[in-house]
Amino acid sequence: MIDKELLEILACPACKAPVTLEGERIACTHSGCGLRYPIREGIPVMLVEEAERPKKNG
Ligand SMILES: [Zn+2]
Repeated sequence: MIDKELLEILACPACKAPVTLEGERIACTHSGCGLRYPIREGIPVMLVEEAERPKKNG
């Protein structure tokens, strides 16, 4: 489980926006970015290469 204090110090490496917990992933809160980072063994993997990109509209 990821605690809130850890989430508060994390930032999206792509756009530097704050992140939030979304299910079992860390999600960037920036609407234009929206990358989702995996959590492995309780440790957020804040790497752009590992992130899942949102589906683009259109
Ligand atoms: Zn971002």
